[in-house]
Amino acid sequence: MLEPSRRVPIVAETDVLVVGGGPAGVGAAVAARREGARTLLAERYPYLGGMASGGMVLVIDDMMDGPRQTVLGIAQEYVERLEEIGAAVYPPVTDRYRVDRALWDKWARWGAIDLYAHGHMKPITYAVAFDPDAWKRVSNDMLRDADVELRLHSWFSNAILDGDRVTGAIFETPAGRQAIRAKVVVDASGDAAVAAQAGAPIEHGRYFVTLVHRYGGVDTERALRFEIEHQEEATALNTEAKRILGGSWDMWWLLTPLPGVVWCNCPHMRGYDTTSVEDLTKAEFEARGKIAATFRFAKENIPGFERSYLLDAASQMGVRQGRLLLGEYVVTQDDIREARWFPDSIARGRDYFTPYRAMVPRRIEQLLVTGRCYSATPIAQRSSREIGPCIVMGQAAGVAAAVALEADVAVRDVDVAAVQRRLRAQGADPGDERPVAHHAMATADAER
Ligand SMILES: Cc1cc2nc3c(=O)[nH]c(=O)nc-3n(C[C@H](O)[C@H](O)[C@H](O)COP(=O)(O)OP(=O)(O)OC[C@H]3O[C@@H](n4cnc5c(N)ncnc54)[C@H](O)[C@@H]3O)c2cc1C
Repeated sequence: MLEPSRRVPIVAETDVLVVGGGPAGVGAAVAARREGARTLLAERYPYLGGMASGGMVLVIDDMMDGPRQTVLGIAQEYVERLEEIGAAVYPPVTDRYRVDRALWDKWARWGAIDLYAHGHMKPITYAVAFDPDAWKRVSNDMLRDADVELRLHSWFSNAILDGDRVTGAIFETPAGRQAIRAKVVVDASGDAAVAAQAGAPIEHGRYFVTLVHRYGGVDTERALRFEIEHQEEATALNTEAKRILGGSWDMWWLLTPLPGVVWCNCPHMRGYDTTSVEDLTKAEFEARGKIAATFRFAKENIPGFERSYLLDAASQMGVRQGRLLLGEYVVTQDDIREARWFPDSIARGRDYFTPYRAMVPRRIEQLLVTGRCYSATPIAQRSSREIGPCIVMGQAAGVAAAVALEADVAVRDVDVAAVQRRLRAQGADPGDERPVAHHAMATADAER
């Protein structure tokens, strides 16, 4: 059918329009505004945070290159603000980067282990367990403090184009369709929604999906003691729980800052197209069936879980990968594995570097694409899309948009050295300094 044309009110005009208020979008909006650009963030849901709140993904990781913190900037500000309100737990410096049985017993179930190291007992690392509702609150605070204009309940549907140049976007809202005009648009939708709609080359990536959920009322001390004192029995019970789930990381439950509450980063469900309404609906049913069955098993069999209850399942299906930008540079698995350095690096993740060109679409102007839908091969994206790295990649997109506007050049022609300098001034590590000795980290298959 053909949709009849209609008039759409322009509700705002801004310098930088950020679409999507997940980790990357908030990073982008705060950074652009701090550089002086008028900035508006539009988010489809009534809250900010994306996978870190609505998806209930509750550990920030991939912030360290061995013992050195590489992911700083707004990612580190998040940690500090979460900690201020008692909503973050992470290993102290003295416990980090050590392989030790007692430390493992203390931190592994917080998810604070270096998954990329080889060996069964991995080193403790700086990773931060947080509360999802606190994430929403901190995100609100960050935008308010930076003076970013925020429009929730605004579901991006169409790009406004002048030839190949994006000049704004149209949103479905409770008040009907609304248009926002902008000089630069940052696509932080997690799914390259703007890029795809504008006609930029993209790739359809696929990976497994997960409905993250939480149990309450767990006697976590008893559960942890049981694992330490009865290792074989605990392994057998956990193996059975994972069999019922039909796919999970080794630790199917992890601790949270809330007493007695654990989060489950599972089940792993394969074969779904995350842009298909039919598939996403089916996935919701598959997940809830598996979650209920595993919960029954845990409650009846695992010490510490006897009085537990199913607290909640995430309001958003956990999508790790969907549409990916095919940008001016496509990051490869070798780039990530070998920690390849780029002169136009604008963000770090663990040991790897992200080039500016991986946020720049081919053909389409005045659009940057950031966060988990950046330009990487599907395999490379799996291990380069964690929360911290997405925040700082977003921060780089925001700074680049503002610097380009200030210099009155197209975002694809921005002076990357100036962007790197401004990022450093904002407390981030853009990865502009070439590493002295090339070192490839020993990587295991450690995506989450
Ligand atoms: C199950 C699961 C487990 C994970 N485990 C970990 C982990 O342990 N540690 C870790 O660090 N990372 C983990 N990750 C990865 C991490 O959560 C994501 O890669 C990260 O949140 C991506 O951030 P983002 O801002 O790019 O995208 P998202 O978090 O997806 O945010 C995108 C935002 O855009 C909004 N949006 C989308 N479309 C539109 C539209 N049309 N209009 C308006 N707004 C829109 C969304 O509502 C959302 O707010 C996990 C991911 C999943 C799914």
